[in-house]
Formats: sequence, structure tokens, C-alpha cells
Amino acid sequence: MGRLRLMIRLWIAAALLALGLAVPALADNHHAPAATALCHAVSDANRPAEAMIGRDAWNCSGTGWKADAPVAWLRFDADAWQTGPAPRHFVTRTSRHERITLYALDAGGTLRARSFAESEGTPFAAGPVFRLPLPVITSETEAVLVRIDRPHSIPLLTEAALVRHPEDAGRSLYEMMLLALVLGMLVLPLLFDISFYLVLRERFVLFHAAMVVAMMGYVLFAGGVISVLASLPVALLAILAPLCWSTGCGMALLFLSEFLERGALSRGMRRLTFWTGCWTIAVPGFFAFQFHATQAFDDAAYFFTITPAAVVVSAALVHAILRGSRSAKFVAVAWFPLILTSIERLIRGLGVYTGPSSLDLMMFIATGVEVVVISLAIADRFLAIRHERDAALTEARMLEQISTRDSLTGLMNRRAIEARFDELLAQGFDTFALVDLDRFKAINDLHGHQVGDAALVACANAIRSAGDRDAIAVRLGGEEFVVLLRGENTLQRAEALRQAIPLRIAQDVPGLELPVTASMGVIVMSQARRHNMQFAEFYARADALMYEAKASGRNRLAYERLTVFSDPPAQRKRRDKAA
Ligand code: GH3
Ligand code: MG
Ligand code: MG
Repeated sequence: MGRLRLMIRLWIAAALLALGLAVPALADNHHAPAATALCHAVSDANRPAEAMIGRDAWNCSGTGWKADAPVAWLRFDADAWQTGPAPRHFVTRTSRHERITLYALDAGGTLRARSFAESEGTPFAAGPVFRLPLPVITSETEAVLVRIDRPHSIPLLTEAALVRHPEDAGRSLYEMMLLALVLGMLVLPLLFDISFYLVLRERFVLFHAAMVVAMMGYVLFAGGVISVLASLPVALLAILAPLCWSTGCGMALLFLSEFLERGALSRGMRRLTFWTGCWTIAVPGFFAFQFHATQAFDDAAYFFTITPAAVVVSAALVHAILRGSRSAKFVAVAWFPLILTSIERLIRGLGVYTGPSSLDLMMFIATGVEVVVISLAIADRFLAIRHERDAALTEARMLEQISTRDSLTGLMNRRAIEARFDELLAQGFDTFALVDLDRFKAINDLHGHQVGDAALVACANAIRSAGDRDAIAVRLGGEEFVVLLRGENTLQRAEALRQAIPLRIAQDVPGLELPVTASMGVIVMSQARRHNMQFAEFYARADALMYEAKASGRNRLAYERLTVFSDPPAQRKRRDKAA
């Protein structure tokens, strides 16, 4: 447990460091692109670029972005790079599309075009961005026109830029290091989840692990960190990022439906949370694929179908907190930044307003916060559940003790010896000694029950050969005991125990006038292992011997030897099978 605490502390320190680094990262704007799109337009697939030369075809207000038309157009005017060197690359956010055609519009209306299929875009390690080479820009070039066939998202348009060097676009190295740190922070909760699951086979741990994996995927694909490690096709990155996000949101709901304490969510709310989780994995998950057949609406459909997740999560948390759930408070703290940044992202995704893509960084940081706090919540719940289990286990052990031990003397009771009798015979306990105190009624009558009890405890101590693996003492009830013995000279050892009883009682219970003696009825078996007699039968025979001992004057031992003659092992085996 101590090591776990240390790990949690180190990791919180890393999380705080990440948050500290995040603030300057957000203010870091050195990589402003050379030019962003001034004007945009949409059209059907048949409109040629020549029809876009005039200014009247364009919306230059900076609003009204749409990604649902067959073709979207962007226009960059040369004024933007007049003061510096001409741009050489078109860069934009990784998103699905069919084809991008770049036109350099020269003075006099000549167009020089380069056209690229989706698979020709090159993602690079500066965020969720890819680049295409521009046609040569000369001093004659008045504008760059961009035709995007089947665009699937608004950021594909709003975040488009022309740059001289690709490094000028997307995230700075600083931001990428921050993302890498968040990614590293996500590894530990995953290890936590695995170790929790090994101890506590609770499904919520698996849901959380799946959520963490989805979020790692989101940071890798949407954060663009993956491009440091591998060059994947634009289409794959464009699918994986929203797919990871919707899967993560769905897993969060499944996690919530099972993580909270019993009774924290009403049955209806628990079901709603669970099924909204399944919906979020399936439906926005489907739109994340951005098939060309759904191009006209999948961007909006993804955001609209993922919205219920945020609503249900918020409702379920409020509901659980009102019902007094401690875990729900942890989850609410963990998810607050994430819900807030998700709503911001949602609104931006719907094109209500445009913001810098560095805003996405907030979401990654919120993800880091979520995972830190949720892991603490799981640890807290883990300890609570383990505590409950330990308490239940202790109680079960106590109940077992109570049911197998005699409360006055602490010896095994009759029920326990009966349950284990066959086993003990098989272990070679071949001597059954029944012990009964002599004239015990008189002790009670003369000195009272309390003294009687003390004498019984002293008797138990006399026969309890502590730690002796070859003698087992049992209190059958009243002042009647049984000692089972095995090994050498069991009869002599039984007699020694019997003689020890009055001495021990006299020693432990002062004030008795006469010694409290005991009588014994002892059965010694040869080959006890091969007996199949029941406890009751031994008891009856030993009791008969006891009667003899009492009748012939008490304070003595009567014994009998039982021998197995007619039951060789081969025969016994056959009989065992028949039975
Ligand atoms: P004997 O066996 O020698 O024939 O005489 P006895 O007086 O011991 O006779 P019996 O076995 O019939 O009496 C048992 C007495 O043990 C009856 C009861 O007063 C006493 N006894 C039984 N259980 C307890 C107990 O838990 N505590 C005390 N103090 N006395 C008990
Ligand atoms: Mg007696
Ligand atoms: Mg008795």
C-alpha cells in the first residue's frame, strides 16, 4: 500500500507539472501561419475554378462555414504574403475528403493547378494536420484558390493555411512535449487498472481501462503525436481521432453506470447511463468513419449524436450526488474540466464559432486531469470495497469459529468433531478416550456454577495437550470430553491425561475440599484407517466402558481394543466403490 501511495504522489506531481507547462503553451503563438483563408464558398461538383475567379462568388465575412456541400472553396489573397517570402505548402486539419485541388491565380486570370487525392496528403508531427505542395507562387500570383471535394468537417476549412515551412503550422515542439507528457500520464492509470482488476474482478475497472486506452488513442491521433512515430494515411487518422473520442465517451458512461456505490443511481438512471454509453460507442462511432455516402451530414450527425453523452453524464452525476454518493463527487471533480472543454469543442465542431486549434490542447489537459482524479477515485473505491470484503471475511471466520468451538473452554465442539471424524481416522487417530468428571453435580451444588465452570476450564486445559499434533481434545457438552490420540502408547498417554485432571483443577480452582477426579472409557483400534465406524458408534461403546468405570468406583479407566480382521484393503476398495 505504501508503494501505491508513493506512486500516486509522484504521479500527481507529474500532473501538476503538466498543468503548469500548459499555461505558457497556450499563450505560445510563435508559429502563426503565413496566410489563412480570407473567403470561402460552396458549390456543386460541376463548378469550374474559372467561375470562382470573380469576387462575387465568395463569402468573406469569416462566418457561415459549411462542410455539407459536395465542394467547398477557399481563397487566399496575395496581400497576406506580400511582405514576406511566398508560401509553398497548403496545410490544414486532418479530416476526410475526396480530393483537394490547389490553383495559383496569376494576373490576367491564368490558373495553374495541382490536384491531390486524399491519400496523397502528408501528415506531419505538429498536430492533427497534413500538408500538400502548392503550385509555384510567383510575384504575378494574385491569389490561391482551393477546391475541396467532399469535405467532411468544418475545421478542414477553418484551419486551412498557406505556409512557407510546414513547421510553421500546427503545434510547437513545446506543445507536442506537453501532449507526450499527458500520454505518459495515461500509462500509469492503465497499470493501476490492471492491478486493481487482478484483485477486484469488477467490470468498471475494465470499462475505465478501455476509456483510458481510447483517450490515449485520442491524444495520439487527434493530438498528432502519432506522426512522430509513424506516417499513417490522412483517412486513417481522420477516422481514428473521432472514433477514439466517441469510444472514450461511451466507455465513460459504461464506467459510471457500474462504478458508483450501490444505490447511488436509481435503476432507471443506471440503465439510461448504460444504454447511452452503448449508443455513444455505436452511433457517433459509425459517423466517425465518415463514409462518402454520409458526407452531407456525418459531421453534424457525429456531434449531435454524441451530445446525449454529455447531458446524461451531467444528469447522472447530479442525481448521484443528491443521493449522497461519495464516488460521484470524485467523478464530478474529475470530469468537470473535460465536460466543459468538450462542450466548447462541440460548439466549435458545429461551426457556431471558430477558434484557434490550440484550444484543443485544453481538452488534452482536461483528459489528464480526469485520469488522475478518477484513478484516485478508483483507489478510494478499491480500498472501500476491500475493507468491506475484509470485514465480511472476518465475520465469516468468526462465525465459523463460533460454530466449531466451545465458548467456555475454547475446545472443539461436538459438531466440529463429528464433521471431521472420518478425516481424523484417516489421519491415524486410533484412540478414542471419553472423559467424564466424577460427581461433578456436587461441585456445582457446593460451590456454585461459577466454580463449576472454572473447574471445567481447568479440566480442558489439562487435556488440551497444547500444540500436540497427536492429541485432539473436544468438549462434547456438560462435563464430558473426548480426547483423540494417535502414535505410540496412546493408552498410557490417555491415562496420564486423566491423572493430570485433578491436579490441574486443584491448582487452578482454589478452595475445593476434595479432588475432582475423572473417569475414562477408552477404545484403542488397530488399523484405525480401515474402520468405517461412525462417531456415534464409538461414542456408544466408549460410554458403555465409562459406565463400567463409574460402576467399579470412579477415578479410573476402562478400555477395549478393537481389531479389524475381515476387511483387507482389496475388499475394502471394492466396497467403497459399491457405496
Ligand atoms: P458422575 O458423572 O460421577 O456419575 O456424577 P455427576 O455428578 O458428574 O453426574 P452427571 O454427569 O449426571 O452430572 C453432570 C453435571 O454437570 C450436571 C450439571 O450440574 C453439571 N454441568 C453440566 N454442564 C455444566 C456447565 O457448563 N457448567 C457447570 N458449572 N456445570 C455443568
Ligand atoms: Mg459426571
Ligand atoms: Mg456426565
